[in-house]
Amino acid sequence: MSDEKVSENTVVSVHYTGSFPDDGEVFDTSREGDPMTFLIGHKNMIPGFEAGVIGAAVGDEVEFTLEPADAYGDMEEGRVVSTPRDQFPEEMPLELGLHLVADIGGQPTPFTIVGFSDVEVKCDFNHPMAGKTLHFKVEIVDLRDATEDEITHGHAHGPDGHHHDH
Ligand code: ZN
Repeated sequence: MSDEKVSENTVVSVHYTGSFPDDGEVFDTSREGDPMTFLIGHKNMIPGFEAGVIGAAVGDEVEFTLEPADAYGDMEEGRVVSTPRDQFPEEMPLELGLHLVADIGGQPTPFTIVGFSDVEVKCDFNHPMAGKTLHFKVEIVDLRDATEDEITHGHAHGPDGHHHDH
């Protein structure tokens, strides 16, 4: 397996640390727990992260900086919407920066409260990481070919996968 490289329909396990290039602040790391395992080529990860590990082998360390378009997308003003205050339970305390999940057509849809008054609440449906440039340092710790089931389902299975229920 040591001559294998990360490519479409391989299942890769990585340790990663993500930081903001401006100030080096770490926003996420796998280093305090298990590596993250995912199937390549099925949009399980932001596009630039997959592209950044393609071609790497077990033991390789790669680093890359992603513009918003290759990460969580650009901020879009149109995704900030005002909702009547009475759409929220009256007893619910509102605060700036509060993360909530709306049910939109049966889809759980996360948003952030970015403003509110007695009559309306401003809800930002942009991803919290939208508009941000991100730096990643990634170590490839394991790599294998995906099974047919995994390719059909579009995600990794097994004890090191995200998902154990079939
Ligand atoms: Zn599955």
